[in-house]
Amino acid sequence: MPNAALPNSFIDSLVKILGRENVLTDPYDLDRYSGDALSPSRAFGAEDSFERLADVVARPGSTEDVSAVLKLANESGAPVIPYGGGTGVMGAVVPVMGGIVLDLQRMNEILAINPTDMTAEVEAGVILEDLESALALQGLMPGHDPYSVPIATVAGTISTNGVGYRAGAHGPMGDQVVALEAVLADGRVMSTRAVPNQSSGPSLKHLFIGSEGVFGVITKATIRVFRMPEARVFAGVAFDTFHQGFNAAAEMFALGVRPTLVDLTEEDDGVTFHLLFEGFKEGVQANEKRALAVCAQFGGRMLGPDPTMAYWEDRRQSAEKYKVSALGKPRSVRWSRWRGRRGFDYLHLGLPISRVLEYRRRCDVIMAKSGVRVIEYAIWSRPELFSMLIVPEGGTATASKDRLGETVQQVLELAQDMGGVMEYCHGVGVKLNHLLAREMGVGQDVVQALKQALDPNNIMNPGKLGL
Ligand SMILES: Cc1cc2nc3c(=O)[nH]c(=O)nc-3n(C[C@H](O)[C@H](O)[C@H](O)COP(=O)(O)OP(=O)(O)OC[C@H]3O[C@@H](n4cnc5c(N)ncnc54)[C@H](O)[C@@H]3O)c2cc1C
Repeated sequence: MPNAALPNSFIDSLVKILGRENVLTDPYDLDRYSGDALSPSRAFGAEDSFERLADVVARPGSTEDVSAVLKLANESGAPVIPYGGGTGVMGAVVPVMGGIVLDLQRMNEILAINPTDMTAEVEAGVILEDLESALALQGLMPGHDPYSVPIATVAGTISTNGVGYRAGAHGPMGDQVVALEAVLADGRVMSTRAVPNQSSGPSLKHLFIGSEGVFGVITKATIRVFRMPEARVFAGVAFDTFHQGFNAAAEMFALGVRPTLVDLTEEDDGVTFHLLFEGFKEGVQANEKRALAVCAQFGGRMLGPDPTMAYWEDRRQSAEKYKVSALGKPRSVRWSRWRGRRGFDYLHLGLPISRVLEYRRRCDVIMAKSGVRVIEYAIWSRPELFSMLIVPEGGTATASKDRLGETVQQVLELAQDMGGVMEYCHGVGVKLNHLLAREMGVGQDVVQALKQALDPNNIMNPGKLGL
């Protein structure tokens, strides 16, 4: 049963476009599609965003379907929230103003794999794991390898500009995008050319990278793919301090050594640097040799390949678990995973290399004052990309949550004040919405002007990206 926000006649029009089976109005479906992996317990001040449910879930099967739905929505001013795998962790698919959740997962065709061009052309809703399997048959692989490979979609990862295990060599998901097809708010279909660089005008594909669906719906993407590596070498290195490992990573990048995987993690049991080298044999040998020499120079002790191989094998476990216990389930089930816990947050900040260690020191002071403990510090893929897993200590559950929220706000603002960004891979969503203008400055006026020009009725994922 549709709710008051969208009249029955609107739902009937959607049914005419997509067929009855692709228009969901059952309260159970509206609930499970109204959000992602963010629960209110980690929303810290954005809990009100969860009050509305979607009015309807629409499941287009083609670019033409998307175009027809957007035309209809634009005429009535109905919000449209593109929905990929629903695995985001910032609430970017939460329908804060109700409207149509547009589930792209029927658009899951791999349209072409071209080993000569080193590209794959895919529909928006292809799950990364399916792309990976199809590429493997031709001796190829994608460059983006997040924990969420089994559950996230190509267009969702483009729209959040995600980072994965192979980003040391291949960069974030945005770097894999060769070309895009996108449907604009008024239903027009725009596509860019499948060449790696253009000097003939601005690069419009970049408008959609990391834009969380506010400028239109990505319907197809041409993605860079890579040959399966001829050689693959894992290496683990232990350090006495995070600083030593960090300095080794910075030196490697300065030299031009490019491991595929760069993961320096400090936990209670010590500091481990996980490295993986992939590519042609001589390149792998040369990179490994120099990287390990750099680590030794900074006090690293060689652990051999085993710990890193084990870590690599386990890398998708959290997503496999999420798939079974939470994905596609009602919100009450997804959110109950955190009930009774004291709370935690996982922060992913980007800073200039020269400021990372100073940032860490300043965060330690803030955390110590507010009774918050860091249980993991890490850099992932590049020395600039720094993360902290934090938990509150002591106090009642409510007081700890408030304290955690205040601390998160302080350390995110500190990253901005030190010339960095508050998030390097998960997007903004509802969780960080209030802080984006602070980071963007005049840039936010540019985003606003683009939005006004492309989507004057503000139908595309309204209430996101500070818009
Ligand atoms: C267990 C687990 C592990 C994770 N590991 C990682 C990780 O290693 N690295 C990482 O970066 N992230 C990780 N994430 C977060 C999440 O997987 C990523 O943010 C992912 O990029 C989201 O993809 P999705 O298809 O689920 O997108 P969704 O969550 O469905 O959507 C994300 C955003 O993209 C927009 N969008 C989706 N499809 C389209 C489209 N076709 N056109 C326009 N906009 C669109 C949505 O509106 C929304 O704003 C993890 C999440 C979980 C639950």
